Amino acid sequence: MKNLTLIGNWKLNGSKSSIQAFSNEWHGCDHPALTVAIAPPAPYLGYFAKTVASCLLAAQDCSAHDEGAHTGEISAAMLADWGCRYVLVGHSECREAHAESDELIGEKLRQVQAAGLLPVLCVGEDRHARESGTAETVVKAQLRGALLAGQSTALLVAYEPVWAIGTGLTASPEQANDMHAMIKSELYEVLQSEQDIPVLYGGSVNPDNARALFECAHVDGALVGGASLSAESFASIARAGINYLSH
Ligand code: PEP
Repeated sequence: MKNLTLIGNWKLNGSKSSIQAFSNEWHGCDHPALTVAIAPPAPYLGYFAKTVASCLLAAQDCSAHDEGAHTGEISAAMLADWGCRYVLVGHSECREAHAESDELIGEKLRQVQAAGLLPVLCVGEDRHARESGTAETVVKAQLRGALLAGQSTALLVAYEPVWAIGTGLTASPEQANDMHAMIKSELYEVLQSEQDIPVLYGGSVNPDNARALFECAHVDGALVGGASLSAESFASIARAGINYLSH
């Protein structure tokens, strides 16, 4: 039986009071094969950590630099200091808003690894690529552009088709599974390692579609945006994971 990782991405949402409300409703989701984390906005990392029990901490992004004259940036070492376990890199919203290149995303990824944390490399094609049949080519280029041959395998990948993020559209379990299988074989070729690197699915995951995705052989969990903002829906997704793992 595989392990599942569930990471909630709060994006630019949240406040002290919403974290308190989440904490009141969140009672943890205990299963030895399920890991659950939330990525609140950076200013709330410390508050989230002390307010919400049984939920690991993730960050939504980090700097490609370790220190120095980079106003507004947050280093991976600082995120480690705050107690983060995971750091998202290359989320499609960051790629688009900050015109991030694959090379820059790769530098961030290695900063995260150097700080002893686990990067979650987000990849995914847009609607045009999906419709024109170039989705795999796009995702392969994103992986090859960010990863270096033989580099550390301490990472996760999140396959997040851009057309499915925040749209209510989800990749079908078959589409997700096929892309995850391709990603895993690409990781094997680039990193030259037998290490099993978890590949999460992201894109409008909710309590109703989570179980079918978790059942896919190559899906190792989910990166959840909108449905992670409420403790109730995030807990339902976690329970779908536990039900699948206990089956
Ligand atoms: C995301 O932003 O990573 C995401 C998957 O969002 P949503 O679940 O809202 O589609």
